[in-house]
Amino acid sequence: MTAKIIDGKAFAAQVREKVAAHVARLKEVQGVTPGLAVVLVGDDPASEVYVRNKGKQTLEVGMNSFEHKLPAETSEADLLALIERLNNDPAVHGILVQLPLPAHLNSDLVINSIAPGKDVDGFHISNVGLLGTGQKSMVPCTPLGCLMMLRDHHGSLSGLNAVVVGRSNIVGKPMAQLLLGDSCTVTIAHSRTKDLAAVCKGADILVAAVGRPEMIPGDWVKPGATVIDVGINRIERGGKKKLVGDVHFESAAAVAGAITPVPGGVGPMTIACLLANTVTACCRANGLREPEGLTA
Ligand code: NDP
Repeated sequence: MTAKIIDGKAFAAQVREKVAAHVARLKEVQGVTPGLAVVLVGDDPASEVYVRNKGKQTLEVGMNSFEHKLPAETSEADLLALIERLNNDPAVHGILVQLPLPAHLNSDLVINSIAPGKDVDGFHISNVGLLGTGQKSMVPCTPLGCLMMLRDHHGSLSGLNAVVVGRSNIVGKPMAQLLLGDSCTVTIAHSRTKDLAAVCKGADILVAAVGRPEMIPGDWVKPGATVIDVGINRIERGGKKKLVGDVHFESAAAVAGAITPVPGGVGPMTIACLLANTVTACCRANGLREPEGLTA
């Protein structure tokens, strides 16, 4: 079998189009422009690239973008004061604090100081609790993007066996909650899981979020399964730098029914879902109808 390649780049473009259409309607009919504030502390080059991309894409869909770049030595009190200002700013509907923060700042404290309704990353403890109890919440962007691609491919996910490899708060755990919300039978695997190969082989839906290059080979994949590869690993092969996922693409694609590539799979969906979350947050803040197909 040769798997269908799930094109995350094309899917993300569709999500951005939907967001842009909704933003245009909000502006025209309600006179409201959704706004996303991104806070970057320090000068980590990778974080700077992410923040630049987020700002560019935010403007491209017609939303307002507010960038706050703070020096690495910013105190916790100053950062919390900025978040408080953004919480109270009616032009700001989404707030994202770029992680990781410098070591002297308490990330949990900072994230939990964001107003839950503006927490477009979905990391605030209130949103974690709401998602865990099946209530309306802001959903973390990467798992939301994976869910959208899975729903698009399968229609209903009800009754499918889903295995999520990885139990981080950012990807693995919320991904498992979302799959459970769509009535999958969910297994969460991690570094202590026994016979991971057999666990993976039972999956109709296999989500890999580990951070280990090409760790999952094709013979761990059930024939016809859908494989979502969240991993982004930079490796060097044949003297060339390369991005690979957590799944060995060639061998898995020979067995799976569908698979996301790296790059061009889950990655592009993450920022698209950030934009989707911002428009959703704006609608909720203004008591307006939420866009369809952009939330969990
Ligand atoms: P974390 O390092 O926070 O979590 C990794 C998880 O993998 C842990 O739960 C760990 O288990 C588990 N794990 C590690 N080794 C093994 C193993 N040998 N067998 C089984 N499980 C193992 O990573 P993240 O969740 O933040 O990210 C995972 C990957 O996804 C990374 O490559 C990251 O770059 C990528 N990513 C991609 C995004 C995108 O936009 N596409 C966004 C976010 C992340 P344990 O808990 O037991 O230690």
